[in-house]
Amino acid sequence: MNYFTYQDNRLFAEDVAIGDLAARLGTPLYIYSARTLRRHYRVLSEAFKGTDSLICFAMKALSNLSILKLFGDLGAGFDIVSVGELMRCLRAGADPGKIVFSGVGKTDEEIEAALKAKILMINVESRPELHRVSAVAQRINLQAPVSLRVNPDLDPGTHPHISTGHRDSKFGIPLSQVDEYYAEARGLKNLELAGLSTHIGSQITETAPFAEAGEKVAKIIAGLRAQGIALKYLDLGGGLGIPYQEEPPSPAQYSAALLGPLRNIGLKIIIEPGRVLVGNAGILVTKVLYVKETDVKRFIVVDGAMNDLIRPVLYEAYHDIVPVVRREGGDRQTADVVGPVCESGDFFARERDLPAVDSGDLIAVMSAGAYGFVMASNYNSRPRAAEVLVEGTVAHVIRERDTFEDIIRNEKIVTLKGGPDA
Ligand SMILES: *Cc1c(COP(=O)(O)O)cnc(C)c1O
Repeated sequence: MNYFTYQDNRLFAEDVAIGDLAARLGTPLYIYSARTLRRHYRVLSEAFKGTDSLICFAMKALSNLSILKLFGDLGAGFDIVSVGELMRCLRAGADPGKIVFSGVGKTDEEIEAALKAKILMINVESRPELHRVSAVAQRINLQAPVSLRVNPDLDPGTHPHISTGHRDSKFGIPLSQVDEYYAEARGLKNLELAGLSTHIGSQITETAPFAEAGEKVAKIIAGLRAQGIALKYLDLGGGLGIPYQEEPPSPAQYSAALLGPLRNIGLKIIIEPGRVLVGNAGILVTKVLYVKETDVKRFIVVDGAMNDLIRPVLYEAYHDIVPVVRREGGDRQTADVVGPVCESGDFFARERDLPAVDSGDLIAVMSAGAYGFVMASNYNSRPRAAEVLVEGTVAHVIRERDTFEDIIRNEKIVTLKGGPDA
C-alpha cells in the first residue's frame, strides 16, 4: 500500500504531480511519501499491539535525517550499524535509549561512542567483540548493556546476498556456542547481559522462517533461564519482505508467526524492520534520454543509473517501472532499461514489457525507498540524486543533488616532481 497513484493518467506522490516536481528539481530524483511512511509504521505497530515491544527502524535502509525525524516522532527507535548512523540518529533527535547497535565489525571508537551516548544495547556478534566491549566499558568506566546475536542456522529462502541466518554466514554466534558465550559474558567486567538478538535475512516472503527463528530463540531463552540468566530484551531483527513482484506475508501474519512460539516469554520484544517501512514509500524518477535499437535488442537509456540504484545488479532485484504520464491504449514494447554508466551491470530492468516511451519521457522506478539512495555513489563522477519528501500538497527537498564541488570536495591536486626517474 502506498500513495503513489495516477490522477488523470499522471503519476502523483500524494497530492503532488511528479512531472511538476521533476521539471522543478531535475532528474534522477528520489521521492518519498510521508503518508506512506507513517502508514507502514502504524500498520506494523498495530501488528505488535498487546505485546511489550519496540520498533527499531533499521536505518541503513534509508537514513536521510528527515526520514529519521519522522520515525522518531512516531516513537520508533533505531537499529544502527556504525557510528555514522549513531550520529545521524542523534542529529535527528532520536532517543538514545531506543537505539540498538548491530554489526560484526564494531571498532573501539564506535563502541565507546555508543556507550557514552547511553544506547539501549550493543548486539555482540563474536567472542573477541564481547571482550572488546568489556574492555572499552572498563576503560571509560561505564556499564555496557549487551545482547548476543545468535545465528539460528536456518534458510530464510531469500537471495544469498541478503541471507544472514545460515551457519555459513558471517553474522551472529553459532547456536551450539550460545550457552558458553553467556557463561563467559557473565564473568566479564562492566557488561550487563541485557538481551538476545537474531536477524535471519532480508526480503523474506514466507512466514515459516520467522516461526522457525521464534521457536529456536524460545528454546535458547528457556535454557538460559534454567541457568539463572534472566534477560530483558529479545531482539528478533528485521527481514519482512515487500511486494516488488512476490507476495509477502502481511505485518499481522508476520507478527503471528514470529510471536507464536514466544507467547509468555516475558521479555520486551524488539524488531528491526528496514525495508518493510520504507521500500514502497519511495520511488526513483528518471528521464528517458534515448531509445536505442540494435539488431537484437531495444534499450531505453535513462539519466538514472546503477550509482543511483544498485539493487538490480547487486541482488538481481526486480523493480516495477511505470510511466509518469500514462497514454491510454498506447503501444507496448520489450526493452532493457539502462543508465549512462560504463558497466554492463548498469540496468534497472531487462527484457521488460513496458509502455512505449520516447526521449524526454519520465519513468518511475517503484519501490526504491529501501537500499536505494543509501547505496548511491559518485561513480563515473555522477552527482548523487536529490531526495524529496512529500506530505500532502507540499514537497520538501530533504537532500540537495550533489554539485560538482561536492564530488571533489576532499580531493587535492598535489605537485609531483615528474620526469623520467620520478
Ligand atoms: C539490515 C538489517 C535489518 C533490516 O532488514 P530489513 O530486511 O530491511 O528489514 C535488521 N537488523 C539487522 C541486524 C540488519 O542487518
